[in-house]
Amino acid sequence: MTVLPYEEAIAAYDPVLGLEVHVELNTISKMFCGCSTAFGAEPNTQVCAVCLGLPGSLPVVNVKAVESAIRIGLALNCTIAEWCRFSRKNYFYPDMPKNYQISQYDEPIAYDGWTEVVLDGEVYRIGIERAHMEEDTGKSLHVGGATGRIHGADYSLLDYNRSGVPLIEIVTKPVEGTGAKAPEVARAYVTMLRDLLRALGVSDVRMEQGSLRCDANVSLRPVGTTPLGIRTETKNVNSLRSVERAVRYEITRQAAVLAAGGRVTQETRHWHEDSGITTSGRNKETAEDYRYFPEPDLVPVAPSREWVDELRATLPEPPAAKLQRVSAEWGFSELEMRDVVSAGAVDAVEATVAAGATPQSARKWWLTEVARRANEAGVDLEDVGISPQQVAEIQALVEKGTINDKLARQVFEGVIAGEGSPAEVVTVRNLAIVSDEGALAAAVDEAINANPDIVNKIKSGKVQAAGALIGSVMKQMRGQADATRVRELILEKIG
Ligand SMILES: [Zn+2]
Repeated sequence: MTVLPYEEAIAAYDPVLGLEVHVELNTISKMFCGCSTAFGAEPNTQVCAVCLGLPGSLPVVNVKAVESAIRIGLALNCTIAEWCRFSRKNYFYPDMPKNYQISQYDEPIAYDGWTEVVLDGEVYRIGIERAHMEEDTGKSLHVGGATGRIHGADYSLLDYNRSGVPLIEIVTKPVEGTGAKAPEVARAYVTMLRDLLRALGVSDVRMEQGSLRCDANVSLRPVGTTPLGIRTETKNVNSLRSVERAVRYEITRQAAVLAAGGRVTQETRHWHEDSGITTSGRNKETAEDYRYFPEPDLVPVAPSREWVDELRATLPEPPAAKLQRVSAEWGFSELEMRDVVSAGAVDAVEATVAAGATPQSARKWWLTEVARRANEAGVDLEDVGISPQQVAEIQALVEKGTINDKLARQVFEGVIAGEGSPAEVVTVRNLAIVSDEGALAAAVDEAINANPDIVNKIKSGKVQAAGALIGSVMKQMRGQADATRVRELILEKIG
């Protein structure tokens, strides 16, 4: 696949984004029936006549899902419809037993809003086209192929547990004027949305479990022109990191097509996490292809203004205001705060501080130990396998003097490998700092006896040479000693 170098692409073309985020609500029951929505159950154990689409079954709207939809709409500064309906979106797919999806078409529950994302200290205003309610589909499992995709599989299995789980689809207006920052703005927007949805308490927002999914629309137009170019839609990008990578890749790919005098094909594309590229999916359907019509089995939704006002009073603080507040509370410099925001670590740091760590130590661990492992594994911070509570526990062990920063890294490793709580890892791996003065003195003596040259240097006044002896003792003690105390002992014994 030909791509243009990113800088060249951006010099010639202006990217326009459109982001569609699907969020699975964390209601106890499904959108139109009483089946459980719990994740990870045995396949096809959470199903009934309604969500299996059996003839004659009738859907009933889940009021809690409508409530969540309204709260999401309000948090995104949308107008809440006084009256809206569900529609049938008709298409066949094996994981959708009714042959249509109940969705909202021309009458979304929330529309015409906006939100703000902060990136490198700059505020980008993102217009929200709509937030509408719909139901999720089931899941296909393709067996026998190498990649888990249908291509090359021997057969496919269907799990309808997810069929009918409430979804809200949040669609932005075209996001313009981001220039070279487009990939990062896309990531910052999805990060902000994830944090906002979590603060609303309406979803688990786990991208790797699919409860938050992003489709990224990208188009290019020659720099200095206004008409929008032809867009592609990259489907189901399932981590924050991938959102940024997928947008960046599409910009370089489309730029190469345009620069060669070609036309971008309007289509959906698949993101490949391993190779970092997108490949052609199907040609994009237009709304006409779905033959939308109003769902005849459901009454319209007409939320009273009193209810909407009640729900407005339950909103969390807006994301930009929250950033300002925590930044002040934590006493971070502008640069420190920027790093936390761009790493998507605001909530993680907040939860770690709530669990007892100081803001600076929370920031340090999330942006070093956890971020490094997230990068290596190609996942988001939250999916590394360590919780804010555990990070706070590790920091508490450091402050108690049980371990030092260096040993803490091994504790991170152990916790992430599933060896238990931080305290358990310290015990099992025998990592605690040795406070036994006798053992320490013995190690110091050994280092002194083995290095007469260094001892002489120290005696002749070159105190900095003690560093080599400290290093030798620390090595003997497998790093499990208090370096300050070791230094004291060395100087005592020599001096
Ligand atoms: Zn059901």
